[in-house]
Amino acid sequence: MSSHYDKINISFRGQLLQSEPMCLHTSLKTGGPADLFAIPEDSEELHNLLSWLGERNITWMPIGRGYNLLVRDKGIRGAIISLERFNKITAVGESLIKAEAGADNLAVVRFAQKMGLGGIGFISGIPGTIGGAVKMNAGAYGEGILERIDRLTLLHNGQIHDFRIDELDYGYRHLRLADGDIVLAAAFRLDAREPFHTEEEIRKDLELRRSKHNVGFPSAGSFFKNPRGQAAWRLIDAAGMRGVKVGGAQVSEVHSNFLVNTGGATAQDFLDLAVMVKNAVFATCGVTLEEEVRIVGEI
Ligand SMILES: Cc1cc2nc3c(=O)[nH]c(=O)nc-3n(C[C@H](O)[C@H](O)[C@H](O)COP(=O)(O)OP(=O)(O)OC[C@H]3O[C@@H](n4cnc5c(N)ncnc54)[C@H](O)[C@@H]3O)c2cc1C
Repeated sequence: MSSHYDKINISFRGQLLQSEPMCLHTSLKTGGPADLFAIPEDSEELHNLLSWLGERNITWMPIGRGYNLLVRDKGIRGAIISLERFNKITAVGESLIKAEAGADNLAVVRFAQKMGLGGIGFISGIPGTIGGAVKMNAGAYGEGILERIDRLTLLHNGQIHDFRIDELDYGYRHLRLADGDIVLAAAFRLDAREPFHTEEEIRKDLELRRSKHNVGFPSAGSFFKNPRGQAAWRLIDAAGMRGVKVGGAQVSEVHSNFLVNTGGATAQDFLDLAVMVKNAVFATCGVTLEEEVRIVGEI
């Protein structure tokens, strides 16, 4: 661990942890320590923390609930910032609701439902926070969350800015942000919808996921993006990779685009398995798969 973390001299009501194992904060249950893991209590603390890090040239990365993260075994040099305490959801107009980055996806759908609004039922069962969903342009059934967003509040170059969604560069499972940018909140433009319709949408989504995604082991959901017009799982199956294992990491027997931790998997096991899958798919189908899971940490 770097020596300038030895004297952390900012007052903090939230949590400030040193050498925090990232396997505790990722759904894949792997990953070495982050030098610093900070959970600021409010905007003032976030501001003070960023100034403190900036003055010391310490890099940072925001995190949601770690449902889409593979952290390398050497861990993270710098700081991880969790916005889990920034989770307010408010109505800001007749058909607009604003959710802070740390709000859970399902909580936002439920809030909209109470207001008689809908149109984001497809995020009900996507595990994680609004910040993570926005960065990943998370979606399901052909819809992506950014299509439903009116404005994003970003911390960009140290300043808070509201961006219209058409000012941003995004696509399937990605939103381009500059290093160090933090999504603070998202305003959703929704449609009038009877609460019982939303209830039905949530029920169907959760039921489908229980039947399809119940892989029995920790995972990060789909490990690879679907290539245009194709399903990654089909290509992985065609390449004969279903069930293949490296150490504790395995291509799930249940859903072949899920790589799972069958127990004690290292990040390197996942990285090696991902290379094997990509090579096999390329050799069999001529398609290069691209990881959907974000791979971070010291090489
Ligand atoms: C069982 C299972 C099923 C899944 N199903 C789906 C699905 O159907 N569709 C889908 O799209 N995904 C799915 N996922 C993947 C995952 O749930 C999504 O990618 C989710 O949006 C990640 O949210 P998170 O809050 O955990 O983000 P994290 O995994 O913590 O972070 C993801 C990325 O977002 C960045 N980030 C997080 N918060 C912020 C912020 N405030 N500002 C800037 N950047 C930020 C992180 O730095 C990281 O790069 C599934 C995962 C699992 C385990």
